[in-house]
Amino acid sequence: MTHTSTATSAAFPLTIHPHWHAAAEAKGFGILQRVKDRYHLLLSCHTCRRTHASKIFVLMNSQPQCPHCIEARWRDDATAAGLEWAGRDPEDRHYAHYIAPCGHNLRRQFEMVKRAAEGVCDVRCELCQQHKEQEEASAQGWELIGPDPNRNQNYRLYQHQACGHVQRIARANMQTGRFACGQCGEDWPAAPSYLYAMQFRLASGLRLVKLGFSRNPDSRLRHQLLKHRDLDAKILKTVPMATGQLALQAEKRLHAKLQAGFSDQVAPPELYSDALRVRSEVYFADTAQVIFAMLDAIEAEEDS
Ligand SMILES: [Zn+2]
Ligand SMILES: [Zn+2]
Ligand SMILES: [Zn+2]
Repeated sequence: MTHTSTATSAAFPLTIHPHWHAAAEAKGFGILQRVKDRYHLLLSCHTCRRTHASKIFVLMNSQPQCPHCIEARWRDDATAAGLEWAGRDPEDRHYAHYIAPCGHNLRRQFEMVKRAAEGVCDVRCELCQQHKEQEEASAQGWELIGPDPNRNQNYRLYQHQACGHVQRIARANMQTGRFACGQCGEDWPAAPSYLYAMQFRLASGLRLVKLGFSRNPDSRLRHQLLKHRDLDAKILKTVPMATGQLALQAEKRLHAKLQAGFSDQVAPPELYSDALRVRSEVYFADTAQVIFAMLDAIEAEEDS
């Protein structure tokens, strides 16, 4: 008959020496028992009362770190930096996740959040920042495409919505409008322009409508928007506008109306990113009649 006993068959000794107790007390811990193997002790933290396994070597030769107290400090740093702790990054021991006041999840280095908690630097949400910069560009009739290819922190890459031209512009100049398009020049806000509605039929058969403005809608369609020349695309309607500035303002108003009243008709960019060189302002074809009516109303205004 076999007989097993957990107490006597432990694969490591259970003795706790008095000088270990003394060392533990001096370093802020109590020893509960030996665990895992002959090298480990289960320590109880005098600060937080929770336990962790520590190597005997670490206890005797340096200062054991309570992982619960460390996490509490990370949480305190997060709170002081205006963030909500959302747990460590399992991929990298220097990083954790935090919820920003805007609700976005940020992955940040502990050190960075600590500096932010001390007021040395700011934790910025790059999603919100990007959104803000996109709005700035959009207000000037441009689209933010990405970071500066020359890696200047003060510059970004933008695309002119009116002509499709891509160029690098200092963000400060985008904010104030103090720059000119390299393709259509200084005069686009004053030059005559057009609002347009275009239709695209994707390879999948899906029909989409784009509303925009341009000095030359036909050239915009043929030479800038299509990624493949053979895509089934046509201009459905254009409305002449006295100036590019008026066209831009009217276009913004129409998109705001469409997004507010027909938000389910806004086509997600992933549907058309393979076919078109645009990232927004594209709708499902059912919206065409609404867009026509809006353009008719503007045409009537312009004529009167
Ligand atoms: Zn602790
Ligand atoms: Zn955000
Ligand atoms: Zn331009």
